[in-house]
Amino acid sequence: MYKADDSRYDNGMQYERCGRSGVLLPKVSLGMWHNFGSVDPYERSREIVRFAFDHGVTHLDLANNYGPVYGSAEETLGRLMDDDLRPYRDELFISTKAGYDMWPGPYGNWGSRKYLMASLDQSLRRMHLDYVDLFYSHRYDPDTPLEEPLQALVDIVRSGKALYVGISRWPLEATRIAIDYLRRHDTPLLIYQGRLNMLDREPIDDGILQLCHQEGVGFISFSPLAQGLLTGRYLEGIPDDSRMAKAKFLRPDMLTDELMAQLRQWNDEAAAQGMSLAERALRWILEQQGVTSVLVGASSTRQLEQNLHCLA
Ligand code: NDP
Repeated sequence: MYKADDSRYDNGMQYERCGRSGVLLPKVSLGMWHNFGSVDPYERSREIVRFAFDHGVTHLDLANNYGPVYGSAEETLGRLMDDDLRPYRDELFISTKAGYDMWPGPYGNWGSRKYLMASLDQSLRRMHLDYVDLFYSHRYDPDTPLEEPLQALVDIVRSGKALYVGISRWPLEATRIAIDYLRRHDTPLLIYQGRLNMLDREPIDDGILQLCHQEGVGFISFSPLAQGLLTGRYLEGIPDDSRMAKAKFLRPDMLTDELMAQLRQWNDEAAAQGMSLAERALRWILEQQGVTSVLVGASSTRQLEQNLHCLA
C-alpha cells in the first residue's frame, strides 16, 4: 500500500494563489496528455504520479481524449485512485476538459451543452471520481453561441460535478465575455490554460495573460518545455524513445537550423548560470506576471525531478 512521503509539503514545492480565488496551485503541475495512456506501462505512469505527489505536486491535469487511446489517461488516473490516491483525494486538485473530438457523431466534439455534460459524466466514470476540482472548455467553438458552453459550465458547478471552471485556448474577446458571463452567474472563471513558453509567447502578445491578471483569473502554461524542445532532449539528435520519434504532435521537420541555433544559445546561457535549459525555460515562464503554474509533462521521474529544480 502506497504511503505518501510525510515531507511532501516541506521539500521545496511552492504554492501560488490562482487569480483572486481561494485556491493555491503548485507552481509546477503535472499534465497527463502523454505517458499515461493504455499504450504506456502502468507501473511507470504510477511511479511518476507518486513521485509528483511525494514532492508536493498536488495538481494533475487531464482531458477526455488524453491517452492514447482516447480516455485511457483518465482510466489510468481511476486505477491510481483505487491503488494509491484515494486516501489523498482532498489533497489533490484534479482537472479534466472537453472540447476536441471524443466520440463519433455530432455530439462528441466542440462546445455544445450536450457534449460538455455527457463528456464530464464519462470522465468521472473513467476516473472513479464523484467530482473534479476543475472542468475546462478545452477550446472555443466559433459555431455555438458563447452562452451555451458558458451556461453549461455554470450548471456543471451547480450540479456539484466540478468545483471550479476554466477555459483553454479561447481567443481574447471570447475570454473577456466568458469572464463577465461567469462572474454574473456566480461561477467566476478560475483559470485560463494556454501555451506559453520561450518559443511561443502568444498569450503575452495577444493580451490574454494581462487580461487574466487584471481580472483575477489564474493562468497555467501548457507545454512549457515546448514538448521537450526546451530541454537537452534534441540537442544531439532525436532519441528513439523521445516524443518526436514516437508521437505525431512533435515532428522532426520542426528542428530547423535556426531553431537548433536558438536552443543551443539558450542552453549555453543556462549552463553559464549553472542551470539546465529546462530549468531556465520553466523559470522564464514563472517570472511572467500573472502566471500561476507551469503544467509540465514527463516520461520519467528523472525528468520531473530535473524540472522541479526550477523552484530551487
Ligand atoms: P512539456 O512541454 O513539459 O513537454 C513534456 C515532454 O518533454 C516530456 O514528455 C518529455 O518528452 C520531455 N521532457 C520533459 N522534461 C524533460 C527533461 N527534464 N529533460 C528532457 N526531456 C524532458 O509539456 P507537454 O507538451 O507534455 O504538456 C504538458 C501538459 O499540458 C499536458 O500533459 C496537458 O495536461 C497540457 N496540455 C494542454 C493542452 C491544451 O490544449 N489545453 C495542449 C497540450 C498540453 P519525452 O517523451 O521525449 O521524454
